[in-house]
Amino acid sequence: MDKTFKHVIAVFSGKGGVGKSTVSANIAETFAKQGNNVGLLDVDLHGPNIPKLLGLESVKLEARDNQILPAYYSPNLKVVSIAFMLPTRDTPVIWRGPLKHKAVSQLLNDVDWGELDYLVIDFPPGTGDEILSVSQLVGKDANAVIVTTPQELALLDARKAVMFAKQVEMRIAGIVENMSGLVCPHCGKEINLFKKGGGKKAAEELGVPFLGGIPLDPRIVELSDDGILFVDKYPDSPAAVAFSAVCENLRKRLEEGV
Ligand code: ADP
Repeated sequence: MDKTFKHVIAVFSGKGGVGKSTVSANIAETFAKQGNNVGLLDVDLHGPNIPKLLGLESVKLEARDNQILPAYYSPNLKVVSIAFMLPTRDTPVIWRGPLKHKAVSQLLNDVDWGELDYLVIDFPPGTGDEILSVSQLVGKDANAVIVTTPQELALLDARKAVMFAKQVEMRIAGIVENMSGLVCPHCGKEINLFKKGGGKKAAEELGVPFLGGIPLDPRIVELSDDGILFVDKYPDSPAAVAFSAVCENLRKRLEEGV
């Protein structure tokens, strides 16, 4: 079965709760809506959020010709999560490193991904076994996208994530600052709840590209229980426009090295 990944995007963060899964899923769908063939792979073995975000919680994967068939969120977006393979949603996953490596390897190699323009991989927070596995399996072709929030603590963790990516020799596509300011739904003015611009400053300091900021929007939290992605439900909102800008910067970086 032919499988090619033109660009592999590894989305990770130094710590949890910064919106890594939200960013992965909305980036993947933004690329898919532009007509690209996109895969979204959730390797967060301990807290897989992607199925819930995309309304795919009841999916059970089927196989054909020894290949796992992915689920679809939208016509161009194939989705596979480790959660699809667990017996119940609440089953805790207690796997040691080598087993995790095997699972990640299967998710990359034994899924019928077809020919993808972008494979977006959502990792667990931090710098654990799963990223090491992907860096070993995909090698230098993986492009790290590091998600952070503007606060100082999150940025310290993002710095660690950048150092990690450098250590495992993963190409660094850049940093995304999530929860970057809040546009007041009443007056349209911007409120900088967690400050703003820290991601850009950290990127400059570390000598890596800054891909853009995604503002806070309370509707992102509401939607995460509905199984519809934000960029589909509110395509004209400032946050959806910001996702498009991040994707455009990412595309340029991956295709033109800019
Ligand atoms: P992580 O994958 O880093 O743990 P999630 O993507 O699960 O983070 O996001 C954590 C929480 O923050 C979720 O409730 C999500 O809906 C919310 N969230 C993420 N990004 C934004 C944003 N830009 N505006 C508002 N809420 C957000």
